[in-house]
Amino acid sequence: MPATNRRVVLVRRPQGRATPDCFAVEEVPLPALDLGQVRVAVEYVSVDAGTRTMLRGEGFHLQVGLGETVRAGGVGRVVESAADGWDVGQAVRGGVGVQTLATVPTSALARIDDDLPLRLHLGPLGGSTGVTAWIGVRTIGRPRPGETFVVSAAAGAVGSIAGQIARRDGARVIGIAGGPAKAAHVVDVLGFDAAIDYKAEDVTARLRELCPGGVDVFFDNVGGPVLDAVLDHLAMRARVVLCGAVSQYDDMDNVVGPSRYLRLAERQSRLEGFAYFHFPELIGPATAELAGWVRDGSLRVTEHVLDGIDRYPDALRFLFDGGNTGKLLVRVG
Ligand code: NAP
Repeated sequence: MPATNRRVVLVRRPQGRATPDCFAVEEVPLPALDLGQVRVAVEYVSVDAGTRTMLRGEGFHLQVGLGETVRAGGVGRVVESAADGWDVGQAVRGGVGVQTLATVPTSALARIDDDLPLRLHLGPLGGSTGVTAWIGVRTIGRPRPGETFVVSAAAGAVGSIAGQIARRDGARVIGIAGGPAKAAHVVDVLGFDAAIDYKAEDVTARLRELCPGGVDVFFDNVGGPVLDAVLDHLAMRARVVLCGAVSQYDDMDNVVGPSRYLRLAERQSRLEGFAYFHFPELIGPATAELAGWVRDGSLRVTEHVLDGIDRYPDALRFLFDGGNTGKLLVRVG
């Protein structure tokens, strides 16, 4: 095992987009293990839109201090243990941070099966990805057969799974994504019924054309003008799932709220936000069902892997620029 840990730390709080100069990669000695800790050789870390909101110094999510390792979920294997019942070789997932060798208490980790590739525990089986999609669709959006379900950031990690679950539940699914390649991916690979390229097309006109009866469920990941366009086109008694608002995260002091929110009253509709960890009792059932679909091949899983921990400083910019199709991961080990 190497004698040092390579890690990515925050050196400057981003103003606007999180750019590589906000981070540094450093090599530090490994600390001795305390009782109850294990050392994890990290194999993959998850790149999440929500991480941008952890770099501000204040906010809803846990924050990253200057000079601290950037927070991230990851998977890997125990390589050294000072904790009863945690053997070397055990596959784990948890808050390992962006580093090669994480020294963490076992309370930060969950044991995972390794019959599937470990990285799938960050994507379709991950709390902030597949499980988030499952909870948002099944508990808040609740599409019924024949209803029209629209999802934004449809080619991304959460959106691609949310749309597939809605389709399994019998809804007609329309994905909103940026660029012709993503629009094609949403229909041809994910099996959605139609796609709107919000960068090239008039979203309002396309919604009118594709959803003559209005939108019954909108699973929103982006906020901003896309949210307004869909609010303007809600069906009666529609459900808007506020999963996230990636268009707003670069400037959280000046979040622009929806100007079309009165449509909620006019259409007797509701907008409801959630975070997956508000539903701890659903994480198990969601993971089990998602794992079944992964195993039988019926859930299409798309991943975008950047190779090497040194790529992390560019990874958030890449995500916010829409570079990823599917779950964005950094391969560490
Ligand atoms: P992702 O969807 O894989 O990647 C983000 C995507 O957002 C990009 O690929 C880009 O795709 C799109 N995007 C970026 N800027 C945009 C803009 N200004 N307008 C419209 N689209 C934009 O990321 P993710 O990690 O899966 O996160 C998706 C959403 O889920 C985020 O809002 C995140 O905060 C939320 N989330 C919520 C929870 C929860 O518990 N509620 C948990 C995890 C994640 P295009 O190329 O299509 O623009």
